Amino acid sequence: MRAWEANIRRVVPYVPGEQPKGENLIKLNTNENPYPPAPEAAQALREMDYDQLRKYPDPAATELTACLADYYGVGRDQVFVGVGSDDVLAMAFLTFFHSQKPILFPDISYSFYKVWAELFGILYETPALDADFAICPEDYYRENGGIVFPNPNAPTGLLMPLEQVENILCHNPDVIVLVDEAYIDFGGRSALELLDRYENLLIVQTFSKARSMAGMRIGFAIGSPLLIRALNDVKYSYNSYTMNLPSLVLGAEAVRNERYFRETLKKITDTRERAKKRFRELGFSFPDSMANFLFVTHEHVPARLIYEALRAKQIYVRYFNQKRLRNYLRITIGTDEEMEALFAFLKEYLAS
Ligand SMILES: *Cc1c(COP(=O)(O)O)cnc(C)c1O
Repeated sequence: MRAWEANIRRVVPYVPGEQPKGENLIKLNTNENPYPPAPEAAQALREMDYDQLRKYPDPAATELTACLADYYGVGRDQVFVGVGSDDVLAMAFLTFFHSQKPILFPDISYSFYKVWAELFGILYETPALDADFAICPEDYYRENGGIVFPNPNAPTGLLMPLEQVENILCHNPDVIVLVDEAYIDFGGRSALELLDRYENLLIVQTFSKARSMAGMRIGFAIGSPLLIRALNDVKYSYNSYTMNLPSLVLGAEAVRNERYFRETLKKITDTRERAKKRFRELGFSFPDSMANFLFVTHEHVPARLIYEALRAKQIYVRYFNQKRLRNYLRITIGTDEEMEALFAFLKEYLAS
């Protein structure tokens, strides 16, 4: 071993879902939106002044931040934007989880939390979900260095009622509570309405799922001005220009287009509710998802076999080879046509 190898930071990275290339494949493995971004955003892209790319973008993302603040009815000093919510969450871990006490997040949850905690040297504990895959709020009433959980949770899709989110906040006035609302627009009630009462609450959302813009990499956090200032101080100590110009322009345009946003959300949630019925008819069960995916298990056929059979047919879903998850598949809600193709195949496969 070369001497300098001993000084290399060793990390076990997060493994994103695969992005297969090709025609005629059905991609239901990374919870992307099956519908294109708002048409007005496409217009903004065409009209973008190419010459502007010479210059650094606005480090404060003033316009996008203002659009989000107006849309959510909060102050402009209450919004922080980043390169996808992964960037925002990483910044939040770095900024707020700085005590000697372990932070808490569910054992089955977004697997990036553990990766950031390891990378930044943050102690953590992972309370187990209950037998029905629900987060037990009481597990978060003990002393800790901070809390983070997705609501709805991933990969289960289960929504925690807002009263329970508030109970967690009530029991944790001394730490920052991060609520990762990547999927909240698909049917949940956001913790935004709790902001007035809890200065230690930070809500993180993304443009990647409900707003059809995973490729733009836009995420944001909303919280008290004090928390946003602290996040900005860390950001400016790391990289001033996180947001590129096209993201700033297209992101703002997407937020302005409320009608399109509501239309695609409705299509996806309608398709999801029909899919629940179809999966049940085929012998699957699942936690009752309020996200744009279902976490399904079959009564007879092992998930791994179904995963491989689907893959051979160019239908991609997500399989986690982990304790408690091995017999489940996380399937993103696609268009009605994509879901029809999925069900047609499953029907035939399960009958054989
Ligand atoms: C998809 C997802 C994110 C990250 O999304 P970005 O594309 O980085 O905005 C964060 N948290 C959860 C729970 C997610 O599912």
